[in-house]
Amino acid sequence: MTWLLLLAAADFDVLIRNARVVDGTGNPWYRADVGIRAGRIAKIGALPKATATNTVDAAGRVLAPGFIDVHTHIEAGIFRVARADAYLMDGVTTLVTGNCGASNTELGAWFNRLRKTGIGPNVAALIGHNSVRQAVMGDANRAPTADELRRMRELVARNISEGAIGFATGLWYVPGTYSQTAEVVELAKAAKGVYATHMRDEGESVEPAIREAIRVGKEAGLNVQVSHFKIIDKRHWGGSTRTLAMIEQARREGLDIVVDQYPYTAASASIDIFFPREVLADGPSAVRERLSSPESKRRVVEEMRRNATLRQGQDDYTFAVIASFPEDRTLEGKRIPELSADKSLDGQIEALIQLRLKGRPSVVYHTMSDADVDRILAHPFTAIASDGGLVPPGESMPHPRNYGTNARILDHYVRQRNVLTLEDAIRKMTSLPARTFRMKRRGEIREGFAADLVLFDPAKVASKAEFTKPHQFSEGFDYVMVNGTFVVANGHPNSERPGQIVTPGEF
Ligand SMILES: [Zn+2]
Repeated sequence: MTWLLLLAAADFDVLIRNARVVDGTGNPWYRADVGIRAGRIAKIGALPKATATNTVDAAGRVLAPGFIDVHTHIEAGIFRVARADAYLMDGVTTLVTGNCGASNTELGAWFNRLRKTGIGPNVAALIGHNSVRQAVMGDANRAPTADELRRMRELVARNISEGAIGFATGLWYVPGTYSQTAEVVELAKAAKGVYATHMRDEGESVEPAIREAIRVGKEAGLNVQVSHFKIIDKRHWGGSTRTLAMIEQARREGLDIVVDQYPYTAASASIDIFFPREVLADGPSAVRERLSSPESKRRVVEEMRRNATLRQGQDDYTFAVIASFPEDRTLEGKRIPELSADKSLDGQIEALIQLRLKGRPSVVYHTMSDADVDRILAHPFTAIASDGGLVPPGESMPHPRNYGTNARILDHYVRQRNVLTLEDAIRKMTSLPARTFRMKRRGEIREGFAADLVLFDPAKVASKAEFTKPHQFSEGFDYVMVNGTFVVANGHPNSERPGQIVTPGEF
């Protein structure tokens, strides 16, 4: 009886016929059929006689590994939008989160909650320095005591043992910005895997910031992933020639250091980035006091007036747009000068202070040059990452990178402008990040690898999300599969949640 059933069973769960396989390694595409069984790529080749429960005719479309996005911020949104359709519709099948030092600090329990909820894509997480420091020291603007350092080390080590894929810093943000390099090195030593860093500066002091990242990697013995590599200060545009050379030099010296990037000339962050960091220490009431008592407020205004670094080297704050402000949704989408009748620099600084007293809106700020973005993107060690988060459709005015990062690469940078070849773009979205984060058996189309796949017509794939209309799914990713289950079919999202937690050494 059993052997009859076995004979009747199909060869594969899913068979994708007539695909142009872009396998993720960067090699030129080849034509093949791909058979999927039990969540894995079981067979690649000419399979004319094979049978399958579900067959898809690729009709010459491109079959690539699902994209691995090594830089996201999904902590706040994943339980509201557990399917993460904005990412699945953009071809992303694995998300790394906890970047810029902001993570959950009880990852074991968090992973279990994600498993119980059920998630669309796979998720891996970093343990974040800022969150660890906040848990132990609050927003204190000082070095830790020996006891505080010990407790932070323990928290990092515990989260690594619970499955964190590395250690992340956000040295530009409160409270990570109050740390010295020695503290970061000590905590990185308690970690394993990758050191992912939003560096202390990406403009005027970007070079010392890169040196700091290199030092942490060398002294702690970790691979380094520099996050959203860029030059933000207009006065320093063009500097990517030098900063890329610094990364190359560190690699020659034997440090495994790479970078990632999102394909836009605008960034997004908390409004905090426009304030002198010492103003933001010690918690909400101390911040309120410093921004409202006349004497200290006068000093803050003076520094913001004088300090072009706080304005990314621009004359005023016209380059900054309110992205999300739950306290007053009517302000979302407005530029800073639109917030008050007084359009002078002082009027804009006053508007920023009033905003910060009401809450902590996020802003989108247009601050990079196309030449730097192109140069960084074209470099072989640059991976693609969104730096985006998960927001319910229609809510707030998020950066379009939340929806369209990968489609924009294939549409704008591959098809329209030839900055990258298709095969190299796919490599930067798949095998390069899988290599850096040591995700075993993901990121390539290879027998035995997880069946995370995306099928698309490279002539049609398009990013639809815009700065003024961000809530638009990418188009053209006709089929997307996570661990052998379709999450997008015929260009439409379904309700499947096959995502797994990706931890180092899982496979
Ligand atoms: Zn960041």
